[in-house]
Amino acid sequence: MTTNNSIIKTDVVVLGAGLTGLTTAYYLHKNNKSFIVLEKQNHVGGVIQSHQDKGFTHENGPNTGVIGNTTVVELFEELSGKCNLQIGGKNVSKRYILKHGQWKHLPMGPVDAVTTPLFTLKDKFRILGEPFRKPGTDPHETLTGFVKRRMGQSYLNYAIDPFIIGVYAGDPNYLVPKYALPKLYNLEQKYGSLIGGSVKKGFAEKKTEAEKKVSRKTFSFEGGLSSLINALYESAEKENFVTGAKDVVVAKNEEYLVSYTDKNGDKINIQAANVISTVGAYALSGLFPFIDKTAISKIDNLLYGKVIEVSLGFNHWDGVTLDGFGGLIPSIEKRDILGVLYMSALFPGRAPEGGALLSVFMGGVRHQELVDKTDEEIKKIIERELKDLMQLQKFNPDLIYINRHQKAIPQYGAESGERFSTIEMLEKQYPGLQIGGNLRGGIGMADRIKQGKELAERIL
Ligand SMILES: Cc1cc2nc3c(=O)[nH]c(=O)nc-3n(C[C@H](O)[C@H](O)[C@H](O)COP(=O)(O)OP(=O)(O)OC[C@H]3O[C@@H](n4cnc5c(N)ncnc54)[C@H](O)[C@@H]3O)c2cc1C
Repeated sequence: MTTNNSIIKTDVVVLGAGLTGLTTAYYLHKNNKSFIVLEKQNHVGGVIQSHQDKGFTHENGPNTGVIGNTTVVELFEELSGKCNLQIGGKNVSKRYILKHGQWKHLPMGPVDAVTTPLFTLKDKFRILGEPFRKPGTDPHETLTGFVKRRMGQSYLNYAIDPFIIGVYAGDPNYLVPKYALPKLYNLEQKYGSLIGGSVKKGFAEKKTEAEKKVSRKTFSFEGGLSSLINALYESAEKENFVTGAKDVVVAKNEEYLVSYTDKNGDKINIQAANVISTVGAYALSGLFPFIDKTAISKIDNLLYGKVIEVSLGFNHWDGVTLDGFGGLIPSIEKRDILGVLYMSALFPGRAPEGGALLSVFMGGVRHQELVDKTDEEIKKIIERELKDLMQLQKFNPDLIYINRHQKAIPQYGAESGERFSTIEMLEKQYPGLQIGGNLRGGIGMADRIKQGKELAERIL
């Protein structure tokens, strides 16, 4: 970084220091590029915030990720001296779904798949015909249409709907598989069937050594996901980050002039050939006033689910046995919570011995209004639901922490194709500009890490 007439010069300005921006910074640093990351909050990590409190280690954002691609494998190997990876234990594979007020576990094998009470007998027979069903032709078909067509209503109600609640806090009537679940969509388009496609894909693909390490394993880190954030922050060197950067605005000259107000109230200008945005869609119009408003409107019309996340810690647990990942609640069950994660059953050190740590989720796109409830109202709902669902005699948590996410999870609906093509158009129109973040490329942490590296690589 060099200073000239009070304008700082650098190769790259990264906007936002969530997981995407931090990963981009990590790879820029690794490849000796000069860069500055501007973050409006006083801390890095974005929605990822872990806390140690009263003997519990709890999360205020994402709780677990998946070792879902080779960049995740590579990054975690490189950071291994700086943060301690935790892989979820045996409980991870047992996932509960609520049906008629009772927890039933998702099938874990072929025998289970036949005997499970989650799906109707008709649909169990129907699924045998899935490989022979014609692929869909409407690229904007909703997930509801897709699943009903291929698998049947009970699979929609008791497998896909709760899965979508768990991942997107979303609604299958809104999400479009082509954008929200591209792997699933491509199985149908490429192989004509989800079941047949999964089998054929497994045989057809030759895997590299790194690809062989990719898995559905569930990860976190000792001390919570913030340990990953801190490791990235330190590796990319904290001096390259500005936190508490207010009123960030990008202007176009022969390159880009990025200005912001620092914590002292001073206006700072940075000249850079490259600007990488990793912020949410809603922040783009303020950051890039030189971009045509019509183009921006095709990006910032993105719908975000609002989520309330409640960490509950119990020094002594006397509810249901916590022998799984957690429980998800299909919308058809009409309850006031979306699901419960059994965090202390997945990773060691989350709760005192004999105690429990739960993460409870409320709201989502179908209940956006819940985010406006007061803490007392939220506590009452949680108490009522958990006493029943977790068989608690008394509701007396030793830790209760309520966190509201007004813009939690972007929903990849039918408008996503236009959003992606508009971004590609803008990136061509403005060389050196990249618009990343979870408005494209997937919402999971593994997707964020993959994209973060790609954003850096496009500059290198
Ligand atoms: C409640 C919740 C639960 C989740 N659960 C999971 C899970 O279990 N597993 C999983 O894989 N994923 C989960 N996700 C999704 C995943 O956590 C996110 O997609 C991912 O962390 C987003 O990272 P990001 O860096 O793209 O965005 P963010 O974390 O949102 O970071 C963007 C950053 O940009 C900054 N910013 C915004 N505007 C400006 C501006 N004008 N100037 C400067 N900076 C700005 C913000 O302050 C923020 O720090 C969850 C998300 C939420 C909210």
